[in-house]
Amino acid sequence: METIAERLQRAYLCIKQSAVAANRLLNAVQLLAVSKTKPVSDIEQAYAAGHRLFGENYVQEGVDKIQALATLSDIEWHFIGPIQSNKTRLIAEHFLWVHSIDRLKIAQRLNDQRSPHRPLNVLIQVNIDDEVSKAGVAPSEVADLAKQISTLTNLQMRGLMCIPKAEVSETQQAASFAAMQHLFNALKQTYPQVDTLSMGMSGDMQVAISHGSTMVRLGTAIFGARHSDKK
Ligand SMILES: *Cc1c(COP(=O)(O)O)cnc(C)c1O
Repeated sequence: METIAERLQRAYLCIKQSAVAANRLLNAVQLLAVSKTKPVSDIEQAYAAGHRLFGENYVQEGVDKIQALATLSDIEWHFIGPIQSNKTRLIAEHFLWVHSIDRLKIAQRLNDQRSPHRPLNVLIQVNIDDEVSKAGVAPSEVADLAKQISTLTNLQMRGLMCIPKAEVSETQQAASFAAMQHLFNALKQTYPQVDTLSMGMSGDMQVAISHGSTMVRLGTAIFGARHSDKK
């Protein structure tokens, strides 16, 4: 069986090849290793292979892992799951990034609960395919929410995130990614600190990279299939 270190090497290579194929710089796209439901020992293996960016979806599971791995102090922890308002304090206190901001109230709570010494990097989640089952703001709401978030001093607004519809044709997927790229470029015009477009997962990262993704979130490709995805 392939080790986590080997899967990481393969993913780095695939990301570089996709970037080159899209006429982008070799280092234009970062890899966020999504370790949800996987044990701390898997994260330690990825860390030993040199990886530093990890994403978690569930607040308590994430915080438990952050505390278990506290000595690995150069890990960058990203929260990428749905956010309930009673969980914002734990997120504000333990994570460096949040990809899943979908309403002002959550942003305000994170801002109030974040230490002023180190801003929390945030991305607005966009419900790009208008799915009732998915979190995120409508594309038409991005500009307003961005404007409000930009006034919150303990947050640093870095860009956008999406989870497009699964199991659609590559053409449809590409259209969703292209729409995100358009929104992202518009946001960059207004806010110079915006530099992150979080899109692409194990199944669609090449298409996402060809449409300007700057960070792909890979779970299965790095850690293997998840047996029990919590809902
Ligand atoms: C689980 C998850 C991923 C990783 O998905 P894979 O298909 O396993 O790569 C990425 N982003 C989010 C928001 C997730 O919940």
